[in-house]
Amino acid sequence: MERIDFDDNLTDESIARSGINTRAVQKAIVQLLKAIGEDPGRDGLKSTPERIARTYAELLAGYHVDPEVLVNDALFEVKYDEMVLVRDIEFYSLCEHHMLPFIGRVHVAYIPDGKVLGLSKIPRVVEMFARRLQVQERMTRQIANFLRDLLKPQGVAVVVEALHLCMSMRGVQKHNARMTTSAMHGAFRATWPPARNFWRTSRAALPRFSSRIAAFDFHPDRFGPLDRPGFFHPHRHPRTPGLARHRLAMSSARASTVNRRALSTRARIFSASSA
Ligand SMILES: [Zn+2]
Repeated sequence: MERIDFDDNLTDESIARSGINTRAVQKAIVQLLKAIGEDPGRDGLKSTPERIARTYAELLAGYHVDPEVLVNDALFEVKYDEMVLVRDIEFYSLCEHHMLPFIGRVHVAYIPDGKVLGLSKIPRVVEMFARRLQVQERMTRQIANFLRDLLKPQGVAVVVEALHLCMSMRGVQKHNARMTTSAMHGAFRATWPPARNFWRTSRAALPRFSSRIAAFDFHPDRFGPLDRPGFFHPHRHPRTPGLARHRLAMSSARASTVNRRALSTRARIFSASSA
């Protein structure tokens, strides 16, 4: 049989590890091609079923990743209790409703409590959950929960911003609408009651997630313009510049130690970002 170059980096072993039944997928794709009125035998489509099966073996490999192997040897005991932030981790996932891609970036922050995870492992954690049929909300929470359970940190925060092709290509056809989701645990969560209080008492009727996004210093150039309605950027908002907003949050904080620490971490982010 003629060997086809599929232009992917998959080996038989990695396909087997993905747990995808590529034979069954191929058969199903042949059926699908027939069902939409195509001829699966024509030249251009001859290898398509196999190509798609291999693609799924790559895009959906996350189900069978062993988390133990994934973090293997990369947990370190460290005396460091400031925030660790890894941001702009690209990801590609498939929405479970349409099996169309949603793509974007993940920002992960945590405040360790004696244990840190090797830097390169955080994108791998993201990948493990992205390479499945997903909804963005669940993926966000899964990443946060995984890191919480693994590291038992003082706090963990995950923010995901993504573009959903099922929204761009079909349906409402909004090409630039992005969805932002967040999941917070521990110290990050503890800061939210005062933050929420702030939002309630401030005249700016901005969505709840805005302050969380600001905490990650999203830069407008990094992911398109953020100054459209509904988005908040600390440098740009005329009424509540980041620092003033932060001071207000500080003053209304009922200060447990953890609370104060998380807030001062945020203060540093704000002063760094407004410098
Ligand atoms: Zn969808």
